[in-house]
Amino acid sequence: PPMWWAGMANPDLQLMVHAPDVGFTTAELNHPGVQLKETITVANKNYMFLNLDISPEVKAGKFTISFVEGKRTVYQSTYELLEREKGSAQRKGFDNADVIYLLMPDRFANGDPDNDHVRGMLERVNRSNPDGRHGGDLAGVGDKMDYFASLGITALWLNPVLENNMPAYSYHGYAITDFYKVDPRIGTNEIYQSINKKLNERDIKMIMDMVFNHFGTGHWWMNDLPMENWIHQWPEFTRSNYRGGTITDPYASEADKELMLKGWFDTSMADFNQDNPYVATYLIQNSIWWIEYAGLSGIRMDTYPYSYKDFMADWMRRIHQEYPNFSVVGEAWLNVAPQVAYWQDNKRNPDGYRSHLDIVFDFPLKYAIGDAFIEANGWSTGVSRLYESLSLDYLYSDPYNMVVFADNHDADRIFTRLGEDLRKFKMAMAFLMTTRGIPQIYYGTEILMTGLEHEGHGLIREDFPGGWPDDSSDAFTPEGRSPDQNDAWNFLSSLINWRKGKEVIHSGQLKHYIPEDGIYVYFRYNEDESIMVVLNNNDENKTLKTRRFVENLEEYRTGTDVLHRTYFDNLSEIGLPPMSARIIELRR
Ligand code: CA
Repeated sequence: PPMWWAGMANPDLQLMVHAPDVGFTTAELNHPGVQLKETITVANKNYMFLNLDISPEVKAGKFTISFVEGKRTVYQSTYELLEREKGSAQRKGFDNADVIYLLMPDRFANGDPDNDHVRGMLERVNRSNPDGRHGGDLAGVGDKMDYFASLGITALWLNPVLENNMPAYSYHGYAITDFYKVDPRIGTNEIYQSINKKLNERDIKMIMDMVFNHFGTGHWWMNDLPMENWIHQWPEFTRSNYRGGTITDPYASEADKELMLKGWFDTSMADFNQDNPYVATYLIQNSIWWIEYAGLSGIRMDTYPYSYKDFMADWMRRIHQEYPNFSVVGEAWLNVAPQVAYWQDNKRNPDGYRSHLDIVFDFPLKYAIGDAFIEANGWSTGVSRLYESLSLDYLYSDPYNMVVFADNHDADRIFTRLGEDLRKFKMAMAFLMTTRGIPQIYYGTEILMTGLEHEGHGLIREDFPGGWPDDSSDAFTPEGRSPDQNDAWNFLSSLINWRKGKEVIHSGQLKHYIPEDGIYVYFRYNEDESIMVVLNNNDENKTLKTRRFVENLEEYRTGTDVLHRTYFDNLSEIGLPPMSARIIELRR
């Protein structure tokens, strides 16, 4: 890390030193409270690792590290310990009261056209290439704080912002070439820090997207690897089989598991070997550095099952040692609940594995949302998809602590998936905002952006209209949106803002009833409040007789549908428009 802080919970700090033949020198430092415990040299003499012990009483300040050979000082480096921000260790993570907005920085808003082309960076902006860089940046994110506030979201997840100095496909951010530097086309470390501070002042949390499984082959390490086993090396390029299920499969072959863990994610992404303790320490310190430096509230960890699981558990323990209230969500992209459940902390796994991971994404429910509203209602199809997916929640150690979503940067855009039917879109969003878990929406969902994953990743990551100075319309404003877009935007925004104040949605229980006649009914409730949600997945009007729901309704006499502003003075029968959701606040 380029610098560290005084007063961290863990006194250990390992520095990686890279300079020609530094391995032939002896490191020396003299600073009260900092002890050079151990110097480690490796086969590659251009590297040296220094294990420091930093006393809890150490004062912030700078000190010099000298690298001497005989009597000659070959190198000198100044290292700094900073003062921690007050309350830093107690920073609060994100939780069920939040709604997360995922955006791809290159595709959201270009707040600084001057950084579109940066000398020394391999890829230049080309907006006509769907897979090229388009010039969006952190300044653009900073410009849209009022937009976020009016939409009502309370947490931002940005796809990775660190340097990706790769010749092509560098816009998505997952091929990191410097783990300590924001990509200069996205911004600077200082801009990232200051935008996060401003967001925090407006009660918007920042979730940083991190990648521990791989890094961009354009990283300087690749010209001078610290160790041969820094990465997984193969005689020729070998791709992962992407079968995360092998990790939990009792019958999986060693060959399949090995390919899953050690195969490369892509030709442009070298596969980290986190079994190497120096790699492990590098990554763990890097994540702590960013939390402390940038004032993060959460981390979204990429490709979770692709890294060694014991390392990931160690990482989570270290995060919680420094930040007990911090939140991490892991991308365990697996299709069925038993596979996802394995990765959530406190799950009693047959192999005894405990992940220490706070939160997982609910991929099975995402698939259910994508199917529920576009197929005929049957025993386990149509709206029963939602019911059946949630019925497997007994498998999770904490089903309320999952991120729920309808789409993301790797998936079909939900509006397209639902046949561009605004009614279905509203049902999906109503479900997302009222079921258990922490909702996440993908930028552009609120203005009905379209795209299918198989047609190309660039097409599900299109530029937000109005984010660029020369755009013909500005969908950040009502005037720049079509009537349908305004309808969707207003619907979602009022839903999100309504959800903000609804503790019963954040922390209430969930009870649902077997879907009948294509109608799915569930309740979110606690001792004080109850909310009834009805999804009519039929293309016709229906009348719902409510006798079946007596165990949730007996205390309640009236209700108000917050979506349609309809008052029910009698709950025995509820009229349902075709393909619609009702969210009814019940009154005693
Ligand atoms: Ca720019």
